Amino acid sequence: MLRILRYLKPYAALVAAALALEFASSMAELSLPAMMAVIVDEGVAAGDVPLIWRTGGLMLIVALAGVIANLTGGFFAARTAMGFGKSLRSKVFSRVSSFSLRELDRFGTSSLITRTTNDITQVQQVAFMMQRMMAKAPMMAIGGIAMALATEPKLAWVLLIVIPIMAAAILLIARRGLPLFKSIQTKIDSLNRVMRENLSGIRVVRAFDRVEHEKVRFDEVNADLTATTLKVNRIMAFIFPFVTLMMNLTTVMIVWFGGRDVESGAIQIGSLMAFIQYATQIMFAVVMVSVIFIMVPRAQASAERINEVLDVDPEIVDPASPVRPEAPKGRVEFRNVSFGYDGAAEPAIRNVSFVAEPGTTTAIIGGTGSGKSTILNLLARFYDVKDGAILVDGVDVRDMAQEDLRSGMGLATQRAVLFSGTIAHNLRFGRDGASDDDLARAAAIAQADGFIAGKEGGMSAELAQGGINVSGGQKQRLAIARALAREPRIYLFDDSFSALDFKTDARLRSALRKETTEATVIIVAQRVGTIRDADQIIVLDEGRIVGRGSHAELLASCGIYGEIVASQLSAEEAV
Ligand code: ADP
Ligand code: MG
Repeated sequence: MLRILRYLKPYAALVAAALALEFASSMAELSLPAMMAVIVDEGVAAGDVPLIWRTGGLMLIVALAGVIANLTGGFFAARTAMGFGKSLRSKVFSRVSSFSLRELDRFGTSSLITRTTNDITQVQQVAFMMQRMMAKAPMMAIGGIAMALATEPKLAWVLLIVIPIMAAAILLIARRGLPLFKSIQTKIDSLNRVMRENLSGIRVVRAFDRVEHEKVRFDEVNADLTATTLKVNRIMAFIFPFVTLMMNLTTVMIVWFGGRDVESGAIQIGSLMAFIQYATQIMFAVVMVSVIFIMVPRAQASAERINEVLDVDPEIVDPASPVRPEAPKGRVEFRNVSFGYDGAAEPAIRNVSFVAEPGTTTAIIGGTGSGKSTILNLLARFYDVKDGAILVDGVDVRDMAQEDLRSGMGLATQRAVLFSGTIAHNLRFGRDGASDDDLARAAAIAQADGFIAGKEGGMSAELAQGGINVSGGQKQRLAIARALAREPRIYLFDDSFSALDFKTDARLRSALRKETTEATVIIVAQRVGTIRDADQIIVLDEGRIVGRGSHAELLASCGIYGEIVASQLSAEEAV
């Protein structure tokens, strides 16, 4: 918790102002009962009307000043807390943006979302409450006791009994609730996870008739969260009635014992009234202190979760003095590269070496799980290699600035991802400066111009979030067009042609060939037809290169390639 408060530093002046204002408003509140006692005991008793007026006027001014201090203090505290939350959110966001995929895998998307939203809100609320109470609660408690003793020392023993009982009881209640607060946050994570999975997999859920099953799954985490929250609130609900009861009992005690002294003339009535008010103020302060004791640990759980994210040292960072290849052409070289994912028993790729020259097309083919996407992930440096090295234009990718490395690449991922916004907005994603003509050309090469023209508004047609209002094949073509619009030196197509029909696939490839005479093209594909005219075909099997060469060479030399070709030919013959 304390560590996270360092992000409050830019607001130090505002925080100080808020605390000072709360301090001032406490002083005002503390002085009012004493003035009232003066009016009653000295003014009314002696019939001194001017004194009543003077003191009354002063009370009015002090009360007004107190209210103003309180309001502005609250205003400053709110500004600070909201600004604090905002800067925390942007810190977490930019830290997460710099995560490698391995680090993202570690936290999980849902938990990262909860941490950026709900957890930060918790901490932000506490930052607000702390500013309002941290100065006020001790001030009111100590000041209240001092004032009560000054007005009526004879009744002080009442406070001596009541305050410890109250503090102990509240802390006892809070201790039972605290562990539950911590578990609430992880339960919110689970709720988000189930919700997310259900939404992103809605088609599968429906197709497999698992709607009921998913409902049950959701109900379980939902009920779990509800039960815990209810339990916490049931425990915490005791505090308020208990405090009210104690306050009233205290008042009764003071009136009971103080009343006799008033009768005997030992205590004046105004002082008795003031004492009752001070007792109330003190107890209120005790409540505030307890609330701080409850809220801080609660926010602590959230603060820890936020710190976990902020503490990650991104594994993939730019080197201190990045090397820039001179005259970059886009030559790619893998030298004995091996890599395994965290938690996987087997490495995903082993000893992979190949060179992809500018102006040529390299195809990678192999069964699912053979490591094809992994090769592209490593080349784009989403992960770092375990062994060996990847060189782009002769420079190790780890020695380059990530931006330099990736700005030369146009990647169309296996699952095409589009963003909400217009088609043009999506195509410009890779290059802001792309002209309308550039976009039109990219779309034409990607064979996307036809269906774009068919959409209402053409290029300015809106895509829904995740691009759900276009078909799978259309999505792929838009993703290809987006890579083309970037005009990169290295094209990476990860199974980007799989959802295209044979005719579109062939047309796209011949248009692409004309466009990419200078560039390095790496195509991952399942279909032999897509890659048979590539300059170099690499056959992967369980992470190893088992064949390399042209289509004809591989047919003659590589058994696995032969099998792939045979299986697909027979499949085509069968139809
Ligand atoms: P391909 O693209 O050829 O189908 P991948 O390169 O995606 O295969 O995967 C290679 C292997 O690595 C597979 O065994 C897969 O299960 C594993 N793998 C892929 N991504 C991850 C990941 N994020 N975490 C753990 N294992 C992974
Ligand atoms: Mg893949």
